[in-house]
Amino acid sequence: MALNIESLRKILELERDKDYTDSAVIGGLDKFLHRWSGQAIESITNQKLLAQFRRLRLDDSKYAAMPPPHRQRWIEEILAFLPELGEMPAEKVEVKPSRSVSPPRKRSAPVKAPKIVSGSLDSAITSLKGVSTAMAAKFERLGVKTVRDLLYFFPHRHLDYSQRQHIAELAEGEEQTIMANVWQAQETRLGGRRSTEAIVGDETGNVRVVWFNNPYIAKSLPTNAQVVISGRVRLFGGRHVFQSPEWELLEDKELVHTGRLVPLYSLTRGLKPRQVRKLMKAVVDSFVDKVEDFLPPELIKHCQLLKLPQAIAQAHYPEDEKAKDKARYRLAFDELFILQLGVLGKKHEWQESQPGNPLSPQPAPLETFLKSLPFELTAAQQKVLKELLSDLEKPIPMSRLLQGEVGSGKTVVATSALLVAAANGCQGAFMAPTEILAEQHFTNVGQLLSREGKQIAEEDNLRTFSGILDRPLTVALLIGDLKQARKQEIQRQIASGEIDIIIGTHALIQKEVGFKNLSLVVVDEQHRFGVEQRSALRQKGFNPHVLVMTATPIPRTLALTLYGDLDLSVIDELPPGRQAIKTKWLKPEQRDSAYAFLRRQVAEGRQAFIICPLVEESEAIQAKAAVAEYERLSGEVFPDLKLGLIHGRLSAAEKDRVMHRFRSGELQVLVSTPVVEVGIDVPNATVMLVESADRFGLSQLHQFRGRVGRGSAQSYCMLLAESPSEIGQQRLDIIEKVQDGFQLAEEDLRLRGPGEFFGTRQSGLPDLRMAKLSDVTLLELARAEAIKLFDKDPGLKKPAHAPLAKELSRAWQGGGELS
Ligand code: ADP
Ligand code: MG
Repeated sequence: MALNIESLRKILELERDKDYTDSAVIGGLDKFLHRWSGQAIESITNQKLLAQFRRLRLDDSKYAAMPPPHRQRWIEEILAFLPELGEMPAEKVEVKPSRSVSPPRKRSAPVKAPKIVSGSLDSAITSLKGVSTAMAAKFERLGVKTVRDLLYFFPHRHLDYSQRQHIAELAEGEEQTIMANVWQAQETRLGGRRSTEAIVGDETGNVRVVWFNNPYIAKSLPTNAQVVISGRVRLFGGRHVFQSPEWELLEDKELVHTGRLVPLYSLTRGLKPRQVRKLMKAVVDSFVDKVEDFLPPELIKHCQLLKLPQAIAQAHYPEDEKAKDKARYRLAFDELFILQLGVLGKKHEWQESQPGNPLSPQPAPLETFLKSLPFELTAAQQKVLKELLSDLEKPIPMSRLLQGEVGSGKTVVATSALLVAAANGCQGAFMAPTEILAEQHFTNVGQLLSREGKQIAEEDNLRTFSGILDRPLTVALLIGDLKQARKQEIQRQIASGEIDIIIGTHALIQKEVGFKNLSLVVVDEQHRFGVEQRSALRQKGFNPHVLVMTATPIPRTLALTLYGDLDLSVIDELPPGRQAIKTKWLKPEQRDSAYAFLRRQVAEGRQAFIICPLVEESEAIQAKAAVAEYERLSGEVFPDLKLGLIHGRLSAAEKDRVMHRFRSGELQVLVSTPVVEVGIDVPNATVMLVESADRFGLSQLHQFRGRVGRGSAQSYCMLLAESPSEIGQQRLDIIEKVQDGFQLAEEDLRLRGPGEFFGTRQSGLPDLRMAKLSDVTLLELARAEAIKLFDKDPGLKKPAHAPLAKELSRAWQGGGELS
């Protein structure tokens, strides 16, 4: 390698700029000088010059040990000598022509990202210098339109350059980061393509780096530049080579000193990492101080949070891990706090905007009804019923989420509440997610009522009972496949108030159904009933009490977030006599014994479910697969048994017929697609066989399992899985051991994350980018603080809370409306 005086001069000048802190070269100046002078001594032929050079003792420098004043003097001395070397004959010392020796320059100011432009946080990013409309369009795809959006465009992770590897310690095949000086970088041809090849080195050695098919990088790697290389090392001809690694020049002084964590942004095609990083740095430097901290100072102090501008800056370019964590903590707190304020606002508005409809508890009819049941309510059911009755009595509308395992007895409790509404002369609606379930509720409610009441009329989808209230009590089922004339008749009766309890799907609130005086709405299986549907109710001009029921146990954190506008009730106890359902994960070769087991149960008079393999393409394809499976099972496996089939493409009437035959015991085995699983209640069924069980989430498996074990007989759940993935195996292991739905939900959330937990992303809520829903402590803190603040100033009307009010409406305007 030729002697490069310019490189030495640059390094020494850099060292001077860095106040002689021995930070100009990776690994320290001494090692660099030793290496450099070894080459120099070989190439200096002029004896006098050589003697002078030796006197500088670069080959044995002790720079690291020198006190700073010595360092300065010594470096000045070398810098003064360099021009003489530069005057050596050109064939002796190679000097790049473009980099001729110049007298030492004055100390330059530390490199900082350029201030881009003045302007406001709400300016479009095209107002920034260097942001073209094309680039802005790419950012827009990432949801970034304004400067503020950019500030909130956080890196998904940071590369930790403090965890760098020495070149001598590089191991083949692993993702590794080195910090090195560029000794040489040039364009080269590799495999016939123009490429870049570089030699970089640190205090432990040199390594070759190649970028295939990219000759331009060579131009960006000046000799002596400090560079971070991150990627995999391969062995090539017995030597380590980095192949097309990530790289970045450490040209920014600030980055070298403090920014050892480098942000990685999730990018869209066409945005280059270094381009984005540079822009982000400039934007943070120029704008972060303009960000107003919207949290009240007492709160910041009390919760020991970082100030907002500091948090944003540290989230992008943290000083260290600890600062990064503190920044994330503050930003996650903000998200959860704003979310909680939003849902509390919704609840407040829901409850205060219109007068509610207080319902007296009506002890007499309720008593009559409860006495007529063949069982006593469990303690948990009684507790929840009390909570409901006390809500109903208030002039503000109830807004409550009732969680309870499958079979915990929610329907009885809901029916009690509906009865109370009817006893008050008001109407109640009971809504299910599917028509089958609506029908089932209609049947169940009818059965419960008929124990005491005398059925005095039964027409299509309508039953009237006497003996419970001091007047006839009418229950109707309103679903899609009723004959048009009949439907209109029922609608007329709902509008006139002749019908007390209306059971149907969510279409009840969406369609042209007019109620006379709707005072209670019970919504079953809430997770298909979102914030918007709840508001739709109010837009119909009612402000009814709302009870949302779910058998999908939702971890408390999620419930507080997604349903923070609801109060929580839990039935945490099953009726007595229920047995744990024996659950077994079977290997494919155990399929025959699974079928044999099922057959034995049927021989004992029991019934079984078989859930078809999951087919994701479309409902039509799913239905076709289910038909094929049904034919295989009834033709080859159980030709002697009575099988039924149910899938999403059947009409409601067809489904109803099949369900009827299964419930009445006429069918012994029900083959079903996964989509129609929820809520079906057949106490005589004791076997649940699930195909491709590894492909379902824990909560869904738990739902399947909940179809059996509803009677007193021992029940079984068999899970078949062909070749489960690692995570699939984990789930099957867990479901085998754990019966408790809440525990399963927590596990599910842990394994899948909240988005998938709900199938699709829940609409109507602001984004959570920093906050993790698994962080219960932070969520509880945010909620507690939100409640505290809300109690003091519900409308955020106080001047001190104006910035907060503004932030709240900004955050909620994207997703949900804060109507
Ligand atoms: P969920 O809707 O919570 O899944 P259901 O209300 O459908 O549960 O109740 C499941 C079954 O348990 C029904 O057959 C119901 O009659 C019965 N049941 C409800 N409460 C009790 C109780 N306290 N004791 C015994 N059986 C009960
Ligand atoms: Mg139910």
